[in-house]
Amino acid sequence: MSLLVVGSLGIDTIETPFGKVENVLGGSATYISTAASYFVTPIRLVGVVGGDFPKEYIDFLESRDIDLEGLQIMQGGKTFRWGGRYNYDLNTRDTLFTELNCFEHFNPIIPESYHKTTYVCLGNIDPVLQRRVLEQIAKPRLVVGDTMNFWIKGKNAELKETLKLMDIFVVNESEVRQLTDEPNLFKAARMIIQLGPKIVVIKKGEHGALMVTEKTIFSAPAYPLEIINDPTGAGDAFAGGLIGWIAKTDDLSEDNIKRAVIYGSALASFCVERFSLDRLKDLSYLEIQDRFREFRELSKFNEEVTAVG
Ligand code: AMP
Repeated sequence: MSLLVVGSLGIDTIETPFGKVENVLGGSATYISTAASYFVTPIRLVGVVGGDFPKEYIDFLESRDIDLEGLQIMQGGKTFRWGGRYNYDLNTRDTLFTELNCFEHFNPIIPESYHKTTYVCLGNIDPVLQRRVLEQIAKPRLVVGDTMNFWIKGKNAELKETLKLMDIFVVNESEVRQLTDEPNLFKAARMIIQLGPKIVVIKKGEHGALMVTEKTIFSAPAYPLEIINDPTGAGDAFAGGLIGWIAKTDDLSEDNIKRAVIYGSALASFCVERFSLDRLKDLSYLEIQDRFREFRELSKFNEEVTAVG
């Protein structure tokens, strides 16, 4: 099975109540492909960086068996940079700066060798570019897409066009409300299903995730972490775990997509334990499996009544 990931690669500066890191590896495609690389390799990555993108970050991506044939390196150009500061509850953050740099004129060019790709994950970029990616390749088996408030506000009509081409739309709870003007999450998800995707997965941060189809709802629990250092990239790690599992198993049944939602939740829970990609770097498949099982235990209960009176 093959998996293509498109999105941003960047250099982040992050402040949380627990510390500050500067010029660390970031970007939606980076988190998605690193998380997915625990399930399927090589990952086909399409993105852009400047000549200033540190070699150690390239080495890291290669060490995860991420194929960089589709990575454009603009010599003389500067890499996308983003800075964010999280508030005490870690649920809200302020963007301190966004320097698009070479990302501003990014034109995703899909290498010939990627034209037949089974699974595609469209990370958070301009919805027009997301569509341009799909126009260049043969119809994939499954398209998972993400977005953010910036595009919901700035490119609303374009995003709705792109949604028609997505099979699974992964979105966070404030964004789903913003996109539909509907405060009720279930109603909002079903409104999005009318626009194209067969499945909407709503990420609720520390409160878990909801998977909504036309007829069913599945609720994934939140993992009770005692140490959270940096929520950056959790949503992308979620999407990477989800598509990685689906690509590995090549099974599009609803039961398997529910399992994928739990793998996504597991990767997101690891991601937030440390800053940047520090925790995602050194995971083992065994640790992921253990956490998957812990998720199952979290909402298991005995329905038999044993004590009477
Ligand atoms: P998340 O925490 O899931 O929103 O993703 C965080 C990553 O998204 C960071 O590593 C940033 O480098 C990247 N990012 C921030 N703003 C944008 C943007 N406007 N477009 C694409 N990527 C972005």
